[in-house]
Amino acid sequence: MRVYNFSAGPATFPEEVLDQAAKEIKNYKNHGLGVMEMSHRSSEFIDIAEETEADLREVMNIPKNYKVLFLQGGATGQFAAIPMNLSKEGGVADYIINGSWGKKAAKEAEKYIGVNIAGKAEPFNFIPSQDDINLDENAAYVHITNNETIEGLKFDYIPDTGGIPLVGDVSSMILSEPIDVSKFGVLYAGAQKNIGPAGLTVVIVRDDLLDKARGNTPMIWHWGDKSIAGSMLNTPPTYSWYLAGLVLKWVKSKGGVEGLCEINKRKAGKLYDYIDSSDFYQNDRQKDQRSLMNVVFTLPDPDLDKKFLTGASENGLKTLEGHRSVGGMRASIYNAMPEEGVDSLIKFMKEFERDNG
Ligand SMILES: *Cc1c(COP(=O)(O)O)cnc(C)c1O
Repeated sequence: MRVYNFSAGPATFPEEVLDQAAKEIKNYKNHGLGVMEMSHRSSEFIDIAEETEADLREVMNIPKNYKVLFLQGGATGQFAAIPMNLSKEGGVADYIINGSWGKKAAKEAEKYIGVNIAGKAEPFNFIPSQDDINLDENAAYVHITNNETIEGLKFDYIPDTGGIPLVGDVSSMILSEPIDVSKFGVLYAGAQKNIGPAGLTVVIVRDDLLDKARGNTPMIWHWGDKSIAGSMLNTPPTYSWYLAGLVLKWVKSKGGVEGLCEINKRKAGKLYDYIDSSDFYQNDRQKDQRSLMNVVFTLPDPDLDKKFLTGASENGLKTLEGHRSVGGMRASIYNAMPEEGVDSLIKFMKEFERDNG
């Protein structure tokens, strides 16, 4: 029996995708071998790679003047790749920080570039407003984390950068709601939340930003070199790329990103509604800044946390503990979390409140 897995990442997969991958694992489309075993230069794999990119472009409405790269190294690899690709030595970049991942991104960037903290929300329970952002106008780029996975906070607007390229970490919200790609210079995401398995990193870069890399940028993270080589400068994460392709077919079957967004709003909406209606559970985020993907909440007494987690686990509701840095609970309800999983969670939360409130 499968459990409902609320892990923040690697995260739950659509069951239909797992079934199809299992069916094809040894013999893909009668080629007599599995995708994992294929040369990345074979025409079979090139077809998979190209179709996956085309589907991503379609569901995200990615304009023609953007390249899509399929890399390795995770979002964390990009924390360093971003300053290396976008700035000369001695430059400066703006970071707007409203959560743990933004903070990490800025810290890593500091090795390569001067970091101007252009906006900061501490404690991390709100998003700095446009008026509270102080950009350095010489900045090579402005970095935001569109959805802060640990704090359960998402940007409710796209900052106006006055023409400075905007870079967005969309690791935990890509494909969950429409994004206007044209407002960004770069979008990047580790795959393991909403796209596919760990090991694949998707980077979407506007053409005019491909030739700004420093000479000492490692070639595997050099967006320009990579895009020239079709993300195949060396062996790409082929199996993860293929699985991302299956996930994208599934996304299309759900009405695309727009269709999933409706479902996601309903799923998150009922969970937040219940939390708000209860005196037992709490989430203090502003309503329009609450994440659709990572719903954080606390119990009235942290001493109850363990009992809650044990009870949830016995009911097939797994991985609900908040990130170790913030405590409390976190239900990650990515695209692949069925609505029934959210319903089961709410049912359990009600029972737990009744017995312990
Ligand atoms: C998970 C996550 C990361 C880290 O991703 P890795 O692929 O493990 O490097 C970075 N940013 C955000 C917003 C995340 O959710």
